Amino acid sequence: MDLRYTDEEEQFRTELRAWLESVLPDVGPTPDRSDWPARRAYDSRWQRTLHDAGYAGINWPRDYGGRGASPTEHLIFLEETERARAPYVGMNFVGLLHAGPTLVVEATPEQKEHHLPGILRGDHIWCQGFSEPSAGSDLASLRCRAVRDGDDYVVSGQKIWTSFAHVADYCEMLVRTDTDAPKHRGITWLIMPMDAPGIDVRPLRTMEGSTEFCEMYLDEVRIPVSNRVGNENDGWRVAMVTLSFERGTAFVSEMLDSMELCRELAELARKVTRRGGTAWDDLGLRRELGMLAAELDALWALTRRNISEATRTGLVGAGGNVFKLAYTDLRHRMGDLALRLLDRASLSLDDIGELPTGRHVQGRIHALSMSIAAGTSQVQKNIVAERLLGQPKERGWTSG
Ligand SMILES: Cc1cc2nc3c(=O)[nH]c(=O)nc-3n(C[C@H](O)[C@H](O)[C@H](O)COP(=O)(O)OP(=O)(O)OC[C@H]3O[C@@H](n4cnc5c(N)ncnc54)[C@H](O)[C@@H]3O)c2cc1C
Repeated sequence: MDLRYTDEEEQFRTELRAWLESVLPDVGPTPDRSDWPARRAYDSRWQRTLHDAGYAGINWPRDYGGRGASPTEHLIFLEETERARAPYVGMNFVGLLHAGPTLVVEATPEQKEHHLPGILRGDHIWCQGFSEPSAGSDLASLRCRAVRDGDDYVVSGQKIWTSFAHVADYCEMLVRTDTDAPKHRGITWLIMPMDAPGIDVRPLRTMEGSTEFCEMYLDEVRIPVSNRVGNENDGWRVAMVTLSFERGTAFVSEMLDSMELCRELAELARKVTRRGGTAWDDLGLRRELGMLAAELDALWALTRRNISEATRTGLVGAGGNVFKLAYTDLRHRMGDLALRLLDRASLSLDDIGELPTGRHVQGRIHALSMSIAAGTSQVQKNIVAERLLGQPKERGWTSG
């Protein structure tokens, strides 16, 4: 394991930092989070800016328009963009981090030519139609049915928790094509154009007040067979290919933001009044904050270790699961501390007076979703128990 940056990597950092300084003044303010057309325009514009400067698809292979960056360069890219407060990947998330990398490995030359440039330029937004009401952690139980009819699949069923479905142009979707085969073997990976007739997208409002999630009702949606990625009934394997692209960098931006949040908690403690002084006067609270900061440092070291391992072996291993479990737990505790500091002000999602109530309350609520998305904490515990600690496999549980 080598956690040092090489001269070339530092050079990459310097160039990127200079570039960010030159372009960020023109980016403009972040749009209101409920203004979806403005958000789409903002995210697409930033992706186009990255693309034109050669920073789009930073870890994608060069042959497909990416930069071919190593996991460490990718880490530097995320560090620098977060440090400079550059826009986040936003609604290009699924295209750039899930669908695109999967197409790079599994798609036909025609599919690659048709879709990859649009993802890299930020022209096309993708969503992910995997989860269903009875298929989340146990994804392979999915029931959304696709029946072959000539050159089309006819798809009917329901998807849920589909982030950005209401703005997406395409959906990477898992459907059941064989109801008799064992559950992992009857699944197919399809590209669904979101303007196909028969798709009913219904936004869901979250506790945070946002409408990023949707339900999708599919009623005999015709999807050309030429939109199938991989073989029929081989979709589970194709879906797993996507996961193999994760090289330990998935939570880097979040981690850096959490470090900032921790500093903001200390500021907040100095502002809120308690019995004639401020919360900062409380030694126990300062100790708690110090502990959180130390845990964040430790998790940053674990991130670097995971990335070092990924650079060497190509895979993150169970270190990624340990990280996600510990990190989401830490965010819950940071959120709880923020709410205690805010006291009654924590009942508001908007800022109250001088206090940055909104960010902290939203951060607490957001922490709940972090321990569900991309594998719940319980599922992470199962994986750590089985793969790292050598415990017996849970009976009846088939996560693939
Ligand atoms: C922010 C966010 C974004 C998302 N975006 C998308 C998206 O774009 N597309 C998409 O398809 N999905 C998306 N999801 C859905 C996500 O993948 C699922 O919520 C997740 O897989 C959990 O599934 P579930 O909600 O059905 O819960 P369930 O799997 O029903 O779990 C319910 C509870 O049971 C526990 N549990 C389940 N199985 C076990 C077990 N074997 N052992 C112990 N405990 C267990 C879970 O930990 C959880 O506490 C998103 C979710 C979130 C929070």
